[in-house]
Amino acid sequence: MKKNYLCKFCNKQIFYFNLIKSRYSFCKNCNVFVSHNKYFLLNKFNNKDKSYKYFSDILIANYKDPSIWDTNKVFFLKKILKEFKKKINILDIGGGPGLDAIYCSKLKKIKSYDITEFDKKFVKNYNKLEISNSKCFYLDFEKKISLKLQKKYDLILWCNSLFYAKDLNLIANKLRTKLCDKGYLFIKSTSPNIGSVIRMGLTKSPPYIWWSKKLINHFFMKNKFLKIKDYDYKKFSQIDNYFLNFKNLKHGIYSIIGILSLFINSIKLKKIHNYKSFFYGSDFYILFKKNFKNVSRDF
Ligand SMILES: [Zn+2]
Repeated sequence: MKKNYLCKFCNKQIFYFNLIKSRYSFCKNCNVFVSHNKYFLLNKFNNKDKSYKYFSDILIANYKDPSIWDTNKVFFLKKILKEFKKKINILDIGGGPGLDAIYCSKLKKIKSYDITEFDKKFVKNYNKLEISNSKCFYLDFEKKISLKLQKKYDLILWCNSLFYAKDLNLIANKLRTKLCDKGYLFIKSTSPNIGSVIRMGLTKSPPYIWWSKKLINHFFMKNKFLKIKDYDYKKFSQIDNYFLNFKNLKHGIYSIIGILSLFINSIKLKKIHNYKSFFYGSDFYILFKKNFKNVSRDF
């Protein structure tokens, strides 16, 4: 079999398919979708800048009286805080639009709450607010991963932006150096599902790799993280979640294209998913602890 028909993680056979804007592959063994950047016409317009203007606008409008942006993240954070007896330093990767950071930096157990974002203008805007115990650092997974931080953190949060990371092994290795001994890493994401592949491919610059729990566990354990817990906390219908938004014309058009795309591809995609996982998705989290004793495992 040709080399590009084998999964780069497990060497088993992968399956290719085209959606409206890009070409994708799927590995059943790893449960992972990979975007292959074979951009079609619509992808000439990159929405990345626009999405960060959106974040900056939300920050400026709400920073004085921030409400929680990601309720699940803050809910789990408050639970993890109970593990610590002292005040701690937190790094929130992809912490835009920064409202959670401003809100949480005031919590009793938190000494500092820093965030990273991949838009330099957003970083500048956030730091202009001069919050005494919260800074924003530039970190772009698409470019070279260099995070210039002297500080080490007791807890690193990485929520809902794993799919922009191309090399999880390298990132796991880097994150380890930013964690204090016995520090925690909390990861939150959505299990790879065809609905999000279609929906995010339509509206955003397409993510690269929809990492599965299996691969995340593999790369972080290889880099000497100890898994404390992994947990599926929300199951949802992909159609409800991604394709029933008709609140304005743009969303309505995306929803219709998305549903059509899902059904047009359903016969082909049936090969890669059984119908149950085809129409349902779930969110999950994984909690790791930095550990020196753990040895890497074979995949
Ligand atoms: Zn694989």
